[in-house]
Amino acid sequence: MDHNRLIFNVFSEKKDRIRSPNFGSHRQFMYRNSNNSKFPDVHADRLALVALLNTLPFVGETLHIGWQVSKKFLEATEIISRINVTSMEGEIEPIERKSSGRHALSFSGGADSTAALAVMPHSTEPVFMLRSESKSRTLYDSQAALESCRQLSRLGYNVHIIESDFEYLRKPIGFPTDLSVSTPAILFAESRGFESIAFGTILESSFGTSGQSFRNYSESSHYRLWARMFDSVGLGYSLPVAGISEVASSIICRNHPIGRVHQSCIRGKWGEPCERCWKCFRKITLMNALDGNEMPTSGMEMIRRSKEVKLRLTEDKPIKHEGVLAYALERASGGGEIAESLRLLTKSGKIKTDWMQHWYPKSVNLIDPSYRNYTESQLMELLGGMNQNQIQTLESWSNNNDNDREEKLVRFLKLIN
Ligand SMILES: [Zn+2]
Repeated sequence: MDHNRLIFNVFSEKKDRIRSPNFGSHRQFMYRNSNNSKFPDVHADRLALVALLNTLPFVGETLHIGWQVSKKFLEATEIISRINVTSMEGEIEPIERKSSGRHALSFSGGADSTAALAVMPHSTEPVFMLRSESKSRTLYDSQAALESCRQLSRLGYNVHIIESDFEYLRKPIGFPTDLSVSTPAILFAESRGFESIAFGTILESSFGTSGQSFRNYSESSHYRLWARMFDSVGLGYSLPVAGISEVASSIICRNHPIGRVHQSCIRGKWGEPCERCWKCFRKITLMNALDGNEMPTSGMEMIRRSKEVKLRLTEDKPIKHEGVLAYALERASGGGEIAESLRLLTKSGKIKTDWMQHWYPKSVNLIDPSYRNYTESQLMELLGGMNQNQIQTLESWSNNNDNDREEKLVRFLKLIN
């Protein structure tokens, strides 16, 4: 701990370097409160959870925590079969969950975490992870997300902006695990008395429908691992929008008063999305559908202009969030021959997509119990629940690449190149 910074040192062993040759023998990552105030004290088990979230993919065999942790934490790590977690000799008391009625949301400024905030209690505190600047900067621009944070503050939310550089542990740059983004919220949980940490994870990710088939997320190894680990440090792991698709999170952002604070594009400035990236492409397509507009030919021309959009549409089989595209292209007519070819590829109009507008009630157990009823009533009011038929369509979701799809893809490729 440096006055306003918290610094972690990571040392690798031979087996780690075999697994992650790029990692090097010693790395650091740090956290800093963006208002430069003193970094709060953090329980040893929560420091260990942060270490685990940021190093797990690089560990060859053993993750040794260089400080004392509780027996409860170490026992919980036994759920990870790939590696062993050990710690400095001696043990400390575990940290129990508070009953403060205060909850955190890992907030990104995008549509999904904004939709999550819209259905969570008003006292929820958004925590934004500000990525440290570097010379090897990617195309990411934090200006729009910081503007989202400012707008939320003006609406009365207590927003925390914590800077970190943990994404530089990975080469190429990226989050070590998908939940690394919540580490600032974990570190501030004790000083703010958070009971739980929520994520803007939507149905396509949790229940697998952005990919080839539906999975029951509550039974997945991802859920069992992280719900257990968060619980071992006295924190709830909460997914308030796990039962809604990208279509529904966009509906919430379009209709709910706080929706205007979000921006999906992480490349453009606030109010000026880049209109070249994959997120912009999906957003424009979906918004035309929700507004009941015709698809402008210019929207489809973006595919020819943008290498990134081209790649996402043709290299991933199926396309990530292909169902969302099928939904949008079914409802926004026109768009010329490219749109028509994309409709064929995504089976738009052939598959049922109306379930995407509603909430999947079986996801209710993924919402933290202390505000579950509140969030459920918000979701029901804003979206309504899926009916039996829609639930069945969702649960039998499968989208495999076969010869028929390959042929359609070849025709689509010819059109856009
Ligand atoms: Zn963009």
